[in-house]
Amino acid sequence: MIRIDILSVVPELLESPLNHSIVQRAKSSGLAEIHIHDIREYGKGNYRQVDDYCFGGDAGMVLMIEPVFKIITKLKSERDYDEIIYMSPDGELFNQKMANQLSCMNNIIILCGHYKGIDHRIREHLITREISIGDYVLSGGEIPAAIICDAVIRLIPGALSDESSALSDSFQDNLLAPPVYTRPAEFNGWKVPDVLLSGNPKLIKDWQEQESIERTKKLRPELLKD
Ligand code: SAH
Repeated sequence: MIRIDILSVVPELLESPLNHSIVQRAKSSGLAEIHIHDIREYGKGNYRQVDDYCFGGDAGMVLMIEPVFKIITKLKSERDYDEIIYMSPDGELFNQKMANQLSCMNNIIILCGHYKGIDHRIREHLITREISIGDYVLSGGEIPAAIICDAVIRLIPGALSDESSALSDSFQDNLLAPPVYTRPAEFNGWKVPDVLLSGNPKLIKDWQEQESIERTKKLRPELLKD
């Protein structure tokens, strides 16, 4: 069982991606718990203020430290966390290896930034790991957080109906997945490779391995160097 606490100023952005399909099924079967915390509820004053102008006069608002500190302190008093992650374009680039690592953890917090970013003291004193989902800038950390949750939760044994299918996905073993086909065996004159209809598991496995290697060489040769 993994527990993920997500801290956000726009929790609505997390609703749909985390309430359907494999993630929803994993939650329903007790394999994963996701708790979404609205940072605004911890905001200052009647207006529940959570952001303020940037010191030094730069354009854009910055997420304040107090509300984030309050939530993290509260959560940490309730249980131990393996990792307190901040989604950030300048963080470590997310990949399958990190997804595997995170899927073995019990409790993680994911902080989503918004606006111009977050008060840097949060990153210096409260965050244990910073993760980026790619070299581009989004408006908030919610979609990145949902991506992490999806990639991690589908790896938990039992989350996928056929457990072994996560192991044959792309990037496990540094190889891309082989092509897959389904019925009909012929459509519009376009045929499925004969070997897949042979009924011979050994031949099929050899073919899949060969295809994986060929596709990786062609599309992502740098993976083979690792
Ligand atoms: N000014 C910041 C970007 C702020 S974008 C900078 O230039 O680095 C607002 C928020 O969106 C960030 O705080 C972060 O939580 C999230 N975000 C944007 N792009 C992201 C990415 N590629 N990976 C992870 N989080 C991202």
